[in-house]
Parts: sequence; structure tokens; C-alpha cells
Amino acid sequence: MEHSFFAEKLLTWYRTAQRDLPWRHTTNPYYIWLSEVILQQTRVAQGMPYYYKFIEAFPTVFDLAAANESEVLRLWQGLGYYSRARNLHATAKQVVEAYGGVFPQTYEELLKLKGVGSYTAAAIVSFAFNERVAVLDGNVYRVLARVFGIETDIASHEAKKIFMTWATALLPSQHVNLYNQAIMEFGAIQCTPGVPPTCMFCVFAQECTANATQRQGILPVKTKKVKVKERFFHYIVVQYQDEIAMKKRLLKDIWAEMYDFHLVESTEPLQLDDLVAQDALLQKILPEASIVGVSDVFTHILTHQKIQTTFWHIKLHSTPSSDWHEHLHFYTPEAMDNLPKPILIHNYLTQYLYKQLQ
Ligand code: SF4
Repeated sequence: MEHSFFAEKLLTWYRTAQRDLPWRHTTNPYYIWLSEVILQQTRVAQGMPYYYKFIEAFPTVFDLAAANESEVLRLWQGLGYYSRARNLHATAKQVVEAYGGVFPQTYEELLKLKGVGSYTAAAIVSFAFNERVAVLDGNVYRVLARVFGIETDIASHEAKKIFMTWATALLPSQHVNLYNQAIMEFGAIQCTPGVPPTCMFCVFAQECTANATQRQGILPVKTKKVKVKERFFHYIVVQYQDEIAMKKRLLKDIWAEMYDFHLVESTEPLQLDDLVAQDALLQKILPEASIVGVSDVFTHILTHQKIQTTFWHIKLHSTPSSDWHEHLHFYTPEAMDNLPKPILIHNYLTQYLYKQLQ
């Protein structure tokens, strides 16, 4: 499809299909910037009353800059992500102090403002000053990937460059402001996430690669980021005379049937007091014992987990009672050597404990 044909068709669609949104009736960069910040991570219907509240309370950037932070936060209440409100306030001050209250008029200069990234800068310069810069947000990625069959993973490092090349090449020579709004609007109300139910009636139904190949549900390609779970292990290495207490792991996990020490697990790092407060064994043995060593943190990365482990080496002063622990038994260093152990335990033994037992 000819690039100019795409832009022309999109603009024709936009002229009749666009929603009537208040920030589209202005070229005031302050109002456009306000609307863009409010609409980040917020639906239009939810953001609209906030837009009106803000322009009423702070009609100019000078008013916003002069406000108390608490006033700004109070007005923002209910929108969440309060760092956005703090950034908004800080940027207003920056515009007043560094630019005399006049918003920078170029893409490069706008990027110097706090909290203004490439998308927001492109939106402001194109909407307010008609500068020829393409906007690239989630809607634009989706439209381009589907219409032109771009299979680059949008979560990859190279995606931004590749899609920006496409987006820039498609920009018309005139009406860049309208065109940028049109492509975002098209993604928001026509070429929606999932499989759009209205492909049949779409202006690009004939030309769209995704429609022709029925890949609307696949494009844009986005690999899911694997969520890494953080776990904190605190191993209690109890020594009595020359022997160390170990136990067989009963949990059915990757270390099942292997030997380790008494374990306290948490979802955050713990100081000694917190550790003792959480663990009955420590509370029982510490009055008759001393902590003789604390290891550095061992970091162990698994596919979906990051485990940070600290070993607390504790020496008992007196013979433990026969019922001191159900599963822990004392082993000499030689006996320990012959037990199957997770690599984490092996590393600790060779790097720390064996040296202390010599
Ligand atoms: S045909 Fe469907 S997938 Fe293609 S641009 Fe239109 S709405 Fe999007």
C-alpha cells in the first residue's frame, strides 16, 4: 500500500469517526501536555473530569507552578500513580523558571522537561506546533503491526527503532497534527486490542495484512515478560562442638531429598530482630548460644526466581535437649561432605564454614 494512500484514508476516516475530546480543540501546549499526563495509564472517560478540574483550577502553567504540592495532589486524588502529579507540578515549575512560562517548541527541547518522554514530546510538538514528528504509543504499534504485517516483538530492544522508521515514513507532508491524532484514535476505537469485531467494516479491510491472514490476535507480537519472584532465605547453621545440624528437605521442589540447614524464608530482607521474632527455633536456642558468623548474601537466579540467601552461623554452648528439633541432626564435616546438597549450600560450606571449622 502506498504510504500516502494510508495517510489519506486514515484522515478521511478520522474526520467522520473521531470522538469530540476537549484537548483536540486547542493548540495550547500547556493544555495538551496536561491532557497527555492525565491520560497516561488512564481511560479517556476517567481522565476527562480531571482535565476540566485542572484547567479550571490552574488555567496557566504559572498557576500550576505557584500551587502547593498538596493542592495538586488533592486535585489528582482518585487517579492513582501520584508520582505523575508530583512530576506534573515539578515540570510546571521548570517551564516557569527555565523557560519563562513558555513551553519549548521543539521535540529536542521538550525532552529536557522532567517526566516528558519521547511519546509526550512528539504529541505536544505535533498537536501544538504541527512539527513533523511521529507519535508512537501502544495504539500506534498495534495499527502498524496489523496493517503492514510487522512481526517485530514490540517488547524487544529494536522495536522502537523499527516502528519509528515505519511511523515516520508514513507521515503525510501536511496535517501532521491531525494525522497523529487520527492514528491514535484509530487504534483506540477501531483497531482495538484482541480481535476487533469490526474488521469487516474497517476502511483498511482490503489492505490490512492481519485481516487478510486472520492474524489480528497475533499481531502485534509481544512476548510476555517472565515475572521474577524475589525470595529471601535465611539459613540458620547450628554448630555444636565440631558438628553441624542439617536436615533432609521434605518439600517437593527442585531441591527435594537434598540436605540443607534450618530455613527461615521471607519476602523481604530481614534484620536479626525480625528474624528472631519470626522463628521459634532461634528463640529457643539463642539464650544458650552465640552468633559467630554472618555470610555475605548469596544470589541464586532461577528462571522465575531470584533467591537471596544469608547464612547465620550459631554456636551452641550446651548440649541441645533430645527434642530440640524434629528433623535436624548433627553431622561432622566429613559426613556432611557425603550428603547430597543444593549448590548454594555447597558453596557456603566451601567458601565459609569449612574454613571456620579448621
Ligand atoms: S482490518 Fe481489523 S486488524 Fe486490520 S486495521 Fe482494520 S480493524 Fe485493524
